[in-house]
Amino acid sequence: MTRKFPKTVTKAIKGHTNLNEFDTIRLWVAAGGRCEMCNDLLTESPLTFEPLNRAERAHIIGQGGPKAPRHHPIDSELKADQIDNVMLLCFDCHHEIDRRSTDPEFSVEKLQAIKRQHEERIWYLTDLKPKRTRIVAFTTNIQQNLGEDCTQQTTSLSFREMRDAVMPDFFPDQGDASRLAFRPTTPESPEHWSELRKSIKRKWERLDLEEIEHLSIFCLGKMPAVAYFGRLVGSTTTLRTMNVQVGGPVRWRDASQVADDFSFELDPPPAHLNATNDVVLCLSLSGLIEDRQFRQAVPADAPVIHLRTPEGHRHKNFLIAKKQLGEFRRAFSHTLSLIQERFGQECRIHLMMAAPTPIVFEVGRQHQAHHPTLLLYNCISQQFHFAFTLEPA
Ligand SMILES: [Zn+2]
Repeated sequence: MTRKFPKTVTKAIKGHTNLNEFDTIRLWVAAGGRCEMCNDLLTESPLTFEPLNRAERAHIIGQGGPKAPRHHPIDSELKADQIDNVMLLCFDCHHEIDRRSTDPEFSVEKLQAIKRQHEERIWYLTDLKPKRTRIVAFTTNIQQNLGEDCTQQTTSLSFREMRDAVMPDFFPDQGDASRLAFRPTTPESPEHWSELRKSIKRKWERLDLEEIEHLSIFCLGKMPAVAYFGRLVGSTTTLRTMNVQVGGPVRWRDASQVADDFSFELDPPPAHLNATNDVVLCLSLSGLIEDRQFRQAVPADAPVIHLRTPEGHRHKNFLIAKKQLGEFRRAFSHTLSLIQERFGQECRIHLMMAAPTPIVFEVGRQHQAHHPTLLLYNCISQQFHFAFTLEPA
């Protein structure tokens, strides 16, 4: 779509419209100095990269008599020199839209839409705040039981999607994420979890936090590992927990988009004390956790408490706004205090999580030394298995 042509030709074609000087500047700025069709940079030669003005101003509704492309008996004269009717294009694209002016692909409406979309994109990209953030991508593989086989499914996060999710509030401070990726291949065992925690700690400590202004953290992987990572990160750093949904990283939406009837609901803790002071806490947030999924793994008489989302909102992508993350923090902290009040300082909480990873990360961050001990469970094929105890911060 690019080619070099003599400056004299450029000059002749460029005189085609009579935009005033300020509108000409506005058009250049709105287009970002790029062709509004093919996005080619219009200020340099595509061959030698030397400075060269390759821009042409193309009428959408053509001017210059009935034979002009996309001519209109009234609007052609009325809109001739209005900025809304002019596109900044390269020679090839200008030639193309005029040669195929009867093609529905290049109708007035289509060209107006192309111009609008290009200018909106340029506006959005140049509206970035200069605040810089380090994107941290935390991933572990996920173990899945598929029939007889136990396989490790590798997970990854695309930098492009993470970058889009942090913008426009922040701009990445480097061309890729700091990746904390873990792919242990051993079957789950105490040694497996111990090795995994060691390598998470090692990689986290290798990040030079003094050089980093701000962190944007994306997590995907085994729940206990994500909670452990949250514990390591704690509250010492300036950071944002970012959202990862089933399809990948997404931008936080505005709080107003959360349904009015959304909340975190707590089953009242049972009144009786049990012998061992073991309590099961189920975070039934993206799905309902059922007794049969963990019964074999916990003391038989342990009472069960659910922190739930309302039934209509209990699905994998319910988390859309940061406001919900704040509400979860309050609900979780309240739940821990309540359990502690009822079952005493020495009680142990067996934690089952059906929750999005930003929430699991917050579980680790929120759990303080004065809270009851948390025993973390990993879910494989609908069954929870004990992973490790989250040590106090
Ligand atoms: Zn072009």
